[in-house]
Amino acid sequence: MKALLCYNQNTFKIEDIDKPGLSDSDMLVEMIYTGLCGSDIIKIFDASNKKPAVYGHEFVGRVVEKGKNVSKFNVGDIVVAAHHIPCYKCHYCKHGNYSMCRHFKETNIYPGAFSQFIRLSAEHIEHTTFKLSENQDIREAIFIEPLACCIRAMERVKFRKGDVFSVVGAGAMGILFVQLIRLFNCKAVAVDIDDKRLSLAKKLGAYHIVNPSKSDILSSIRKITDIGIDTAVLTVTNKYTLSDALSYIRDGGCINIFGVSGKDSYIPINFEKLYKREATIKSTYSATPETLKKAYDIIINKKINVSPLISEVMNLSDFKTGLDLMLNRKLYKAIFQL
Ligand SMILES: [Zn+2]
Ligand SMILES: [Zn+2]
Repeated sequence: MKALLCYNQNTFKIEDIDKPGLSDSDMLVEMIYTGLCGSDIIKIFDASNKKPAVYGHEFVGRVVEKGKNVSKFNVGDIVVAAHHIPCYKCHYCKHGNYSMCRHFKETNIYPGAFSQFIRLSAEHIEHTTFKLSENQDIREAIFIEPLACCIRAMERVKFRKGDVFSVVGAGAMGILFVQLIRLFNCKAVAVDIDDKRLSLAKKLGAYHIVNPSKSDILSSIRKITDIGIDTAVLTVTNKYTLSDALSYIRDGGCINIFGVSGKDSYIPINFEKLYKREATIKSTYSATPETLKKAYDIIINKKINVSPLISEVMNLSDFKTGLDLMLNRKLYKAIFQL
């Protein structure tokens, strides 16, 4: 079968590799569409991540083969699935740190969704695979796993109805957050240096928009809320976005570190300020089967609008072009087809 092998950040080749073998409880899914995730991009650029590798975990596909013990899905079904599954038994899981579970980290789809076929295990089939109907834009389902990560972030920060959030970065994740925050009856202030992205955020429900390259972020936020932002969600985390957020959150407020800028992200923090204001910095990593179910319900029932995030599907042989378009913020998400 064909797969896209990444050799380094500039070299991607479509090559023939072995089709995954199946046990009686696995199923084989043929990829229809695969989305490029920010976390794939981090791995592509991370020299310590073993290469050549097949990346990709945001996909929709069709079941083409199944083991005799698989009863939940049938050959021909269109499905969406996520890659990691917690064990629900370990110390981490019992504390709700599902994405820290060792089993969660070990489980994965094989070989990766930038390929012709992937294998889903019995655990994937039970916990993280969902059926789609043919009469919908199935590309929208690519956003289920990213949205599930956003839902998990919302569940990890404590909030009350009417709270004011800032959403820093109005890329694909930021646009999902803006809509999710509104769905949860709270208000989202979108922050980005790109006016075009801000205007989409506004159109999809942002309470306010702020462009920090054009107006002072602290005084802009003060005009919106005099006590400060309850929770800042950083889909872009760097020394600027973090220090801004530390200044504009309210006393006792929270910062959620959602997106990172890579391994070399040492950021100095004024702990005296953090301490006296009882601020919380909390990170969120990945999704859980429970938040995936919620995200599936939200997207299938169109409770949020992901269609503006979908652009033309590109051929997998044009992967580098899609990667560059995403890096240059010309696309919210590159979607590929073999
Ligand atoms: Zn992802
Ligand atoms: Zn566990």
